[in-house]
Amino acid sequence: MNNPQRLIDFIAAFTGLLDDGAGEERIFSEGRDLLAGLVAHDDWLPEEFARTSAERYQQYLLYCDPRERFSVLSFAWGPGQATPIHDHTVWGMVGVLRGGETCEEFSGAPLQPSCSHHLAPGAVDLVSPRVGDIHRVANAFADRASVSIHVYGADIGKVERHVFDPVTGAASRFVSGYVNAAAPDLLRIIGA
Ligand code: FE
Repeated sequence: MNNPQRLIDFIAAFTGLLDDGAGEERIFSEGRDLLAGLVAHDDWLPEEFARTSAERYQQYLLYCDPRERFSVLSFAWGPGQATPIHDHTVWGMVGVLRGGETCEEFSGAPLQPSCSHHLAPGAVDLVSPRVGDIHRVANAFADRASVSIHVYGADIGKVERHVFDPVTGAASRFVSGYVNAAAPDLLRIIGA
């Protein structure tokens, strides 16, 4: 970690985009470029937000907009770890910072896998009720950790959404929360 200012600059630029009234389409073009710029360099995330757990993938809140228009998270994936099949109910972007991830998309009723793709470091994937909201994400590696940076159109840890049974497709409600109780003090992170 040597340039945490990148995160501060990303948050400022993303806030500016929303202040300018950007909807999902602009967020998925201009906001996506901002996230791609953030994950193009793996030199800014404090190690405490990349810490994996042997039990399950970890999701850390890095920042939440005071008006809850967006939140920024880091996901730390241990070897072979994966999410359940789940939805978001709001727009979301997944940018890979380190390692690699596999995204499987699902659609239809009953729920069926529709496509699968690999995300290398620097790649950004999009989800929303409009473009496809149900997926399963996994660490592409069985022998090492991966880290991704996610941005969502809400304080996502508080949003009631769904996980889906892989066999029956049955939905159950869940609220993800975060590993950390509160977002970090960004001024502490940049050493100000
Ligand atoms: Fe997701």
